Amino acid sequence: MQTTAEFYCAYCGEENTTFVDLSAGSYQSYVEDCQVCCRPNILYIQVDEETLDIDIQTEYEG
Ligand SMILES: [Zn+2]
Repeated sequence: MQTTAEFYCAYCGEENTTFVDLSAGSYQSYVEDCQVCCRPNILYIQVDEETLDIDIQTEYEG
């Protein structure tokens, strides 16, 4: 099961949309390049298992 969620780029602050695979667990992290400035953001994704609300924190890579 996959859903979309928004995060804000840690570099330029623009809103991005990412696909989250809900079957991959309630805590996930991976690197995704910003769709605006192409710089790599580390995403820390937390899924609420009851409501399926998604919370995303972003960090600079490196
Ligand atoms: Zn950006």
